[in-house]
Amino acid sequence: MKRIYLDYSATTPTDPEVIKAMEPYFFEKFGNPSSIHSFGQEAKKAIEDAREILAKFLGAKPEEIIFTSGGTESDNFALFGVAYALEKKGNHIITSAIEHHAISEPAKFLEKKGFKVTFVKVDKTGLIDPADIKKAVTDKTILISVMHANNEIGTIQPISEIGKIARERGVYFHTDAVQTAGHILTKVGELNVDLLSLSAHKFYGPKGVGALYVRKGTRIENFLRGGDQERGKRASTHNTSGIVGLGKAIELASEKMEEEANFQIRLRDKLIKEIPRKIPEVYLNGHPTKRLPNNVNYSIKYIEGESMLLNLDMLGIAASTGSACTSTSLEPSHVLLAIGLPHEIAHGSLRFSLGRWSKEEDVDYLLEHLPEIVEKLRAMSPLYQKK
Ligand code: PLP
Repeated sequence: MKRIYLDYSATTPTDPEVIKAMEPYFFEKFGNPSSIHSFGQEAKKAIEDAREILAKFLGAKPEEIIFTSGGTESDNFALFGVAYALEKKGNHIITSAIEHHAISEPAKFLEKKGFKVTFVKVDKTGLIDPADIKKAVTDKTILISVMHANNEIGTIQPISEIGKIARERGVYFHTDAVQTAGHILTKVGELNVDLLSLSAHKFYGPKGVGALYVRKGTRIENFLRGGDQERGKRASTHNTSGIVGLGKAIELASEKMEEEANFQIRLRDKLIKEIPRKIPEVYLNGHPTKRLPNNVNYSIKYIEGESMLLNLDMLGIAASTGSACTSTSLEPSHVLLAIGLPHEIAHGSLRFSLGRWSKEEDVDYLLEHLPEIVEKLRAMSPLYQKK
């Protein structure tokens, strides 16, 4: 049976070149990077090399990079770190209604602890209006956190404009760039951000490793306490092989990013054009142009996303109904509800995400089989019968 992976936004395979770069750091060069001896020092050197590669990629300084265990930790670190460093200055945080749970859950937790959080709304394409952010800022605002691009519907936010507003008002600005780093430009200077999260497994690096960029001078409390790794900013023995893998993955991304994005945009637009031609009553979610090169998200009326996923899986096609982290919950996605979809339509949504090893024939295979699956499921749907 064919196996077609169209779920690159959930995670990517680790590039074989990344695995090759990581391999020596499991046995041959296994030393603890904090050790003084040569075993430790060769591991430390590898980490500092990866830090330099990542810093250059982001247009940052190496000392502004903190390696973490992934996107979730980086997001939690940014929110809790700034909230607790600045709690005497103010207790107000602004974020959006469509953030990943790695942001919205810490934000809700901070609310319980006495902070005030404004969840700014988005329009029906998932876009935030920077004017709404401007209006929400008060004298008590200490942090704005808005994701660079949404993981479900792919909408890319006007980060640079929001960053200007934050700077004018003297408020720190964080962006969750987990879906964009390694895929589109994420230069911190152009984005006007003070903090930025990324995660290696979204750009062909290993799972369980990421980074938080923290602009020099930004006040932030430690999130993990213990040893003095990462210049005392993040305790725990370094994940040397993971960090080396992240560095290699970023190096590959800087070489391939533009070409890959152009290829994915072509396949993405083919799907966006052909799906409504072949299937009636489908609606594109997300912004028509300001969207991730690899993201296609359609609501297919009268059927459940989960039944479509199972039927696609039987044909070897891997897709998603939204965020992999919540795919076990039966609640419709908060992102789809935030763009104004009614529950029953939000339930019938599918995300296809392309990546480094996607092929035109994968897209053609999907286009060949999706209409028959939809037809079969609609024939069984009471909602469709009633129509
Ligand atoms: N933020 C966004 C936008 C994501 O898509 C994800 C992962 O799906 C995360 C954060 C969490 O990253 P990680 O899986 O590395 O913890």
